[in-house]
Amino acid sequence: MTRLGKRIVWHFDDELFMVFHLMIAGRFRWRPAGAALPAKLGLAAFDFPPGSLLLTEAGTKRRASLHLVRGEATLATLNPGGLDVLTSSAAAFALAITSENHTLKRALTDPGLLDGIGNAYSDEILHAARLSPLQLTSRLAADEINRLREASLRVLTTWRDALIDQAGNAFPEKVTAFRPGMAVHGRYGKPCPICGTPIQRIRYAANEANYCPACQTGGRLLADRALSRLLKDDWPRSLEELEHYKNERRMRV
Ligand SMILES: [Zn+2]
Repeated sequence: MTRLGKRIVWHFDDELFMVFHLMIAGRFRWRPAGAALPAKLGLAAFDFPPGSLLLTEAGTKRRASLHLVRGEATLATLNPGGLDVLTSSAAAFALAITSENHTLKRALTDPGLLDGIGNAYSDEILHAARLSPLQLTSRLAADEINRLREASLRVLTTWRDALIDQAGNAFPEKVTAFRPGMAVHGRYGKPCPICGTPIQRIRYAANEANYCPACQTGGRLLADRALSRLLKDDWPRSLEELEHYKNERRMRV
């Protein structure tokens, strides 16, 4: 089993791959062998001798996906191509983050630029880096890029290690983007853990960014209404939409 951006890949003989994308509400659940698939949530069941792995998705929107592909070359077409922050150099990070001029929120969550950072961790990274979600990447100073990379490494490794610890040897059942201990994500109105200022939010279509004005925007509130003009197409309204957009663009090249 490997990871391809946010997708989970199962490897079989003869270069056969099953590629899962859980999107927002898709989950794997480990149950006793032969467990029934839940009527409303169940999408698929994979039976193994020691137990059954269920794929479920809450809500009415069906976004999770499963692709069955043959060959490494076909598998590679499902790779959005973003840089893995944890294994890449400072120079490669700087190049990726400044390769297109976007808001930082957009750049961090664009799977074509960086690999596997979603809405929650981009909020946490920007807070740790003390940078505004709306800062344009073309205007980043060298020390801000360094701060962003260091914050990305710190936030991603801290949460990865904490979640591995928390799960122990058990199957991770409580998968969520909202965690106690997060600094800003999902904490609108609550005090910033660094300075105590109430956390603010920007809502744009279906998405939301949380930030601390004192730590990140020089005390400035980022008004929702003023944003629509500034951002226009430069905001990931949903990850699904963003990926669709990226795929379309790649196909045109
Ligand atoms: Zn703060």
